[in-house]
Amino acid sequence: MKKVRSGWAACNPVVRLSFAGPMLAQMPNSAGPQPANPRAEVIATGSELLSGKTVDTNSAHIARALQGIGIGLCAVTLAGDDELLIAAAMDRALARSDVVIVTGGLGPTVDDKTRMAAGWAVGQPLQLQPALLAQIEARFARMGRPMSANNQQQAFIPAGALAIENPVGTAPCFAVERGRSVLIALPGVPRELFYLLEHAVLPWLAARFPALGAIHARVLHVAGLGESVVDAKVADLERLANPVVGLTTHAGVVDLHITARAANAATAAALVADVERTARERLGAAVFGADGTSLATVALEHIAAAGHAAACVEQGTGGELGRRLAAARSGAFRGGALLPEAAAGADTNALLDEALAHCARMFAAPLALACVLHATADALQLGVALQLPAPAAAQRFVRSMPLPSTHAAEWGANLALNLLRGQST
Ligand code: ATP
Repeated sequence: MKKVRSGWAACNPVVRLSFAGPMLAQMPNSAGPQPANPRAEVIATGSELLSGKTVDTNSAHIARALQGIGIGLCAVTLAGDDELLIAAAMDRALARSDVVIVTGGLGPTVDDKTRMAAGWAVGQPLQLQPALLAQIEARFARMGRPMSANNQQQAFIPAGALAIENPVGTAPCFAVERGRSVLIALPGVPRELFYLLEHAVLPWLAARFPALGAIHARVLHVAGLGESVVDAKVADLERLANPVVGLTTHAGVVDLHITARAANAATAAALVADVERTARERLGAAVFGADGTSLATVALEHIAAAGHAAACVEQGTGGELGRRLAAARSGAFRGGALLPEAAAGADTNALLDEALAHCARMFAAPLALACVLHATADALQLGVALQLPAPAAAQRFVRSMPLPSTHAAEWGANLALNLLRGQST
């Protein structure tokens, strides 16, 4: 066992979820000066992650969350429910990284190894944490159930560790230092993990690494232009060091992520605004919104502003288009219907005509949208159409997609919504 320093040993408080809370204010940061560009890594524990039964989405979420405060991940390790393997992974991670986040393995059962492994890795015996025990006892009292010895085990964490209050679940979490590095053990259950990251861990890390300054991030959403076209238009922006500009795509929508780091929030926001202005000038009307804006909301706002309303009929899409329009909660959406699957060998244009005719019969809406998806022997056929008020002809778009195409319905919905917002694709 290694001999380690930890300034938290003296107080062992429970982290309150308010960063201004007295517990956090009392907590000394004994680890000394911290680097301006900390390294972080994740250890995701659980044998189900290695068998493929559970996909490790926690690491991706942690990566995005840490990036949001300017900390990049340098490694992710998956470890089965093996105490020595987890401890070795923790030991290696603590030796090379400033922040090590561990997910899972905090339950009361024999396959929950995180507490023991962490004790081994930081060279400290497990010790009863009265604050955690009180938290567990209170939970059982609320449920009116007797507490077993197993559950009591959950209150034992490495000596010197800081307990982190978990108001949204049962896994007792903790953070423990080894030298300048910190290991933070969080639940495997994604909902609990997300909550604790956002409310306890990120604010605490932002304070621990003040040199990170402020981060400002914005996402511009683009529809109707392919990724390579967008890339060609903003290639020089993607080479900037600050803000960092990057593209992600999903089913016909391209997201342009702009993230700036500066000494204060106002400067970071100004850096982002500058790049956003340039990107919008180059991409024009293909930019349909930013951050949480949805394509359906923008499309319905567009037709509502022109005094119109729309309805939709779909086939083979599982109702994706109607669901997205309904989620926008706009009075400009009059309703949607899903037709039975098309017969083999159907013609896409004929299916679109039929869907538009159904829409006109079923809904009193001046604009009719159709989205059809059907398989041929070797491809998926996707068709979308928008019927404007007479005498305008329907605008339509038909394309073939290779099999299998898991995002075809999403593609169809995006194409149809982009037609509705007045942009031909
Ligand atoms: P509990 O106290 O409920 O046992 P825990 O923190 O010990 O929580 P685990 O038992 O390891 O967490 O995992 C609980 C569930 O969370 C798993 O069955 C799985 O569904 C999900 N989960 C665990 N790890 C991950 C991960 N890396 N990515 C996505 N989901 C995960």
